[in-house]
Amino acid sequence: MATGNINVSVENIFPLIKKFLYSDHEIFLRELISNATDATLKLKHLTNIGEVSVEYGNPIIEVKVDKEGKKLHIIDQGIGMSAEEIQKYINEVAFSGAEEFLEKYKDSAKDSGIIGHFGLGFYSAFMVAEKVEIISKSHGDAKAAHWTCDGSPEYTMEEHDKTERGTEIILHIAEDSTEFLEDSRISELLVKYNKFMPIPIKFGTKEETLPLPEDAEEGAEAEKITVDNIINNPNPAWTKQPSELEEGDYKSFYHELYPAQFEEPLFNIHLNVDYPFNLTGILYFPKLGNDMNMQKDRIQLYQNQVFVTDNVEGIVPEFLTMLKGVIDSPDIPLNVSRSYLQADGNVKKISSYITRKVADKLNSLFKNSREDFEAKWDDIKIVIEYGMLSEEKFFDKADKFALYPTVDGTYYTYEELYEKIKDTQTDKDDKTIILYASNKDQQHSYIQAAKDKGYEVLLLDSPIVSHLIQKLETSKEKISFARVDADHVDNLIKKDEEQISKLSDEEKESLKTTLTEVVPSDKYTVQLEAMDSNASPFMITQPEFMRRMKEMQQTGGGMFGHFPEMYNLVVNTNHELVGQILNTKTRKKQERLIKQSLDLARLSQNLLTGEELTQFIKRSYEMIK
Ligand code: ADP
Repeated sequence: MATGNINVSVENIFPLIKKFLYSDHEIFLRELISNATDATLKLKHLTNIGEVSVEYGNPIIEVKVDKEGKKLHIIDQGIGMSAEEIQKYINEVAFSGAEEFLEKYKDSAKDSGIIGHFGLGFYSAFMVAEKVEIISKSHGDAKAAHWTCDGSPEYTMEEHDKTERGTEIILHIAEDSTEFLEDSRISELLVKYNKFMPIPIKFGTKEETLPLPEDAEEGAEAEKITVDNIINNPNPAWTKQPSELEEGDYKSFYHELYPAQFEEPLFNIHLNVDYPFNLTGILYFPKLGNDMNMQKDRIQLYQNQVFVTDNVEGIVPEFLTMLKGVIDSPDIPLNVSRSYLQADGNVKKISSYITRKVADKLNSLFKNSREDFEAKWDDIKIVIEYGMLSEEKFFDKADKFALYPTVDGTYYTYEELYEKIKDTQTDKDDKTIILYASNKDQQHSYIQAAKDKGYEVLLLDSPIVSHLIQKLETSKEKISFARVDADHVDNLIKKDEEQISKLSDEEKESLKTTLTEVVPSDKYTVQLEAMDSNASPFMITQPEFMRRMKEMQQTGGGMFGHFPEMYNLVVNTNHELVGQILNTKTRKKQERLIKQSLDLARLSQNLLTGEELTQFIKRSYEMIK
């Protein structure tokens, strides 16, 4: 038996590693299985090119828990290592690699940006094991070797009688890591990190029921057999060519990726590029509705089919993190902080490639099946609107296919809408006014009034729409958005039909004085307007700007500052009731009429609640009694 000293200068490297990488001990299994996979793929490559003349066969990787012996085994049938190779690759390369890593990161490792995303490789075994053995038989003629190390810089090396090609790693699990002796914990890790690795991974066995033979007698019991429990799918959909896959394959892969997800995705985008960077993957558009906070089932990042993380922030543009699916790229640096990641040239290219692919897919759906695209709009709009707000390049593309539905369910592109209304819906300054509602029920009477005038009213109800409107107003010329209950609207309406006021100037003066005395001035600005006598006598409108700023603040952004709850009370001087109010002789009755009318106007705007609503109802019953 030979003993030796591993040449490391950092005195005791093991406690350091444990300490710094504490939060992510579990990655050791991924690292060891990655090594086993690499060793198997190397053998495959060498047999393919005729470099070695062994039978490649159907190698698997096996993970075994020995709870009593407190050991975890990872066994592969790969290329193997001779004693010299262990000396070279483990004692020298692996250890010096780990040492270098620690030297570099021991100060910054606490910055959570890097913990977990690095290739510590073989060395990570010491995060959970007090002793590690390697028993390996190389594909060459050398005798099998047995290496043991207890975490100190000393190791032993002796011959072993293993005859099958490959490597067995035995971890003697440390007292503080016995969780890794639980089948359920190992199973969980295998599913998390290795579900799509390219070599079959066996963990235990399972029973399988054979199908009954055709001539089986009635009541015959199906035969059960014990088979290897293979935990992974070595050929996941994203590693295939789009031409090999049908719609159904994409859907079933979605459910394989997110087993707890029952909804079908709306459509998918297959990513496949190998120059100037390598990236494959499948992104799915889920049904999003107006929900922006979907934290579950996020996009998963893989490197060569090994799961790395489901936090793709910085790699995928933020608006696309609402999508689901997989991206696999060896070209994304992992052992770096987020800010470094965002500055990385490859990552930038990857991010803009993904954005472009998503925009192209949406555009082709829009072009090729507009009807279907319209049907899906409500479920995808949030991603598109968010993208238009956050990525200029995406805005330019999406501007051609983003849809603006009307309250009656017609979907216009911006261009189509503008063409339709540019001459009819203009205000005094010839600005085109785009009318919209955010809630069909709440704004019903306003919508009706606008429609009666022949105007188009959009239904824009997503939570970030006020931001998008703001963006459109600055990037398009001579347009302005106004919600149907906003103060701009009467500008628009007034332009069409200059009404002659039935009241004289003195009468108006007197009416205004009476109204301002009764209507609370901290909330309402009274405006007299001569409108159609059929229009409502009292109407409440809200300054568009103020309301929009408030909404924008609620969804993040907008201007700072406090925007008071201010409304306009628009009083139609041509309405019969208003004339009646003016001519009422007793002050008390006049006040009652004004209050009742104001409350009715508030009621139609959903502004009457609580105590005031109760009073109003009580008062109304009194009146009709
Ligand atoms: P890395 O995998 O990043 O190169 P590791 O520390 O994980 O670093 O491993 C060091 C080297 O040890 C590998 O490059 C490989 O040559 C060898 N090695 C590790 N595990 C195995 C294995 N299961 N079979 C064959 N060789 C292995």
